[in-house]
Amino acid sequence: MAKQVDLSASLKEHFGFDTFKGNQEEVINNVLKGNDTFVLMPTGGGKSLCYQLPALILQGTAIVISPLIALMKNQVDAMRNFSEDDGIAHFLNSSLTKTAINKVKEDILAGKTKLLYVAPESLTKEENIEFLKQVKISFYAVDEAHCISEWGHDFRPEYRRIRPIISEIGESPVIALTATATPKVQHDIQKNLGMLNAMVFKSSFNRPNLYYEVRPKTNASKEIIKILKNYVGKSSIIYCLSRKKVEELAETLVVNGIKALPYHAGMDASTRAKNQDQFLMEETDVIVATIAFGMGIDKPDVRMVMHYDIPKSLEGYYQETGRAGRDGGEGKCIAFYSYKDIQKLEKFMQGKPLAEQEIGKQLLLETVAYAESSVCRRKTLLHYFGEKYQVKDCETCDNCVNPKEEFEAKGDIVKLMSM
Ligand code: ADP
Ligand code: MG
Repeated sequence: MAKQVDLSASLKEHFGFDTFKGNQEEVINNVLKGNDTFVLMPTGGGKSLCYQLPALILQGTAIVISPLIALMKNQVDAMRNFSEDDGIAHFLNSSLTKTAINKVKEDILAGKTKLLYVAPESLTKEENIEFLKQVKISFYAVDEAHCISEWGHDFRPEYRRIRPIISEIGESPVIALTATATPKVQHDIQKNLGMLNAMVFKSSFNRPNLYYEVRPKTNASKEIIKILKNYVGKSSIIYCLSRKKVEELAETLVVNGIKALPYHAGMDASTRAKNQDQFLMEETDVIVATIAFGMGIDKPDVRMVMHYDIPKSLEGYYQETGRAGRDGGEGKCIAFYSYKDIQKLEKFMQGKPLAEQEIGKQLLLETVAYAESSVCRRKTLLHYFGEKYQVKDCETCDNCVNPKEEFEAKGDIVKLMSM
């Protein structure tokens, strides 16, 4: 157990920050006490620090389980910036050579390494489990913990093996972190990680600077062009469900004099990277993309996120619109909705296993309810995250600014969501 430490001084020394963000300090204190901790904080809220700082303070090595190899490297590099010794942080994943792995293990056994990032598929490897049994572990951090849940937007079966593996390596406190906060996902994570008694730290998911709007999808391309003509020189993202639509829409925009580029997983890696860079460097205003775009991208001044097609879940919608206005400035979020798209999505699910279909349908139903509702959008979104929004009129959604009759309302579904 650590002695009384001056957390603010450590924060300044290791990261150069003057103050904690949100409830970081409370979270860190709980980790330092050796308790299990569950952190629900929106993207950009500063979750990493909640395990990085305690890892530096406590004795031993913290094991950080994180799904994205690319982000892992960034985090390790960032940690090294503040240290004299590169051994302070390492990662173990499938991209490393044998020699590199040996160096990592050497540093850990020499007690140099405070943070070890591990991809879940590396953690499940028997040789790594055997190695970690010899290591003094301060705690386990499970980042992007929603990957545990089939109700989350990024389910990864290996994540479900984390708990038994921890038991095999040796028990230590666990901190789980996610930006996905629906009550279902939260319960799934806590149950699966055996941490139903953990202290839960939940930040508000309200994004006051975002404006939410749903429009009936009648002539979406035309409307999008009209909107974008007023956003020249600003950054916008447009999400489509299919790769084909991405290509088509990007082309239509270009023909109409808008600087737009496509992005989807079917394009070759170098073109994709080039298009992403052009967007980040503001050589193009608009990126038209599938949901493959955005994970880990931190462009603070995206002013507009449009959904040409309604997304498959409200959770996804919240995460994707969340990429607007990260700097606290204007962020407009417009979704185009038609019930036909929902029917298409349902049809698409038919080939999948039954349990998956059930989940998919439920998530779709919630999206329909949102799109067709005349209730404040913000209230509905926050309700979805188990949060009560008490304000009568948020003043920044279509339903509050222009109270209106429900269009095409599928009565029963709307009732489902009535609060
Ligand atoms: P999350 O994982 O919750 O999406 P990150 O951990 O990536 O968020 O942090 C988001 C940004 O906030 C990073 O650029 C990080 O350096 C910054 N940040 C974190 N904590 C603080 C703090 N106390 N003061 C200032 N900036 C912070
Ligand atoms: Mg994070």
